Amino acid sequence: RDTYRLVVLGAGGVGKTSLVGRHVLGEFIDIYRPTLEDSYRQVVQLPDGLFQSVEIVDTAGYHQFPAMQQLSIQSGNAFFVVFDISNRQSFDQAKHLLHLIRRSKGDVNAPMFLVGNKKDLAEHRQISHDEINDVVIEFGDCRYIETSAKDDVNIDHLFKEIITRSFAS
Ligand code: GDP
Ligand code: MG
Repeated sequence: RDTYRLVVLGAGGVGKTSLVGRHVLGEFIDIYRPTLEDSYRQVVQLPDGLFQSVEIVDTAGYHQFPAMQQLSIQSGNAFFVVFDISNRQSFDQAKHLLHLIRRSKGDVNAPMFLVGNKKDLAEHRQISHDEINDVVIEFGDCRYIETSAKDDVNIDHLFKEIITRSFAS
């Protein structure tokens, strides 16, 4: 099987690099490096016992040129669209990204997860669960998971779920 590309998209500052870092490196680095764009390769074992190479692409968010963003989407097999639950603008950006993915992928099966990060900032929550539900319903095959890269909440679950969904027979 070819390498499976899992692309992490979302506005700058929502925690994409932190989520990927938490999963890949197992730690939370509290330094904001907005322009860092990187990819990590992992080998995972699927339910059927076979091994699959997965490339996790951490995009540089709003610093990207639209053409580069389009390229990331085109080349992706599955997507995390991340927003910050305490930041309204990042939620609007996430909805926009879901539309772009949908438009670009058409009928191709490309699992999308909407990820509400910074769950630890619940007291500053700006996006209600109702609003999030509306988006999940609008994008029928999109799942929602809330995470905290800071407190290590739901990160491994998130990565496990997208692999399961991608390779479910
Ligand atoms: P990116 O631009 O989407 O890659 O965002 P970063 O991963 O660089 O994170 C931006 C800022 O948000 C950094 O200061 C991180 O430490 C912080 N951050 C990331 N995830 C969380 C989280 O789950 N909770 C909190 N409170 N801060 C976070
Ligand atoms: Mg980043």
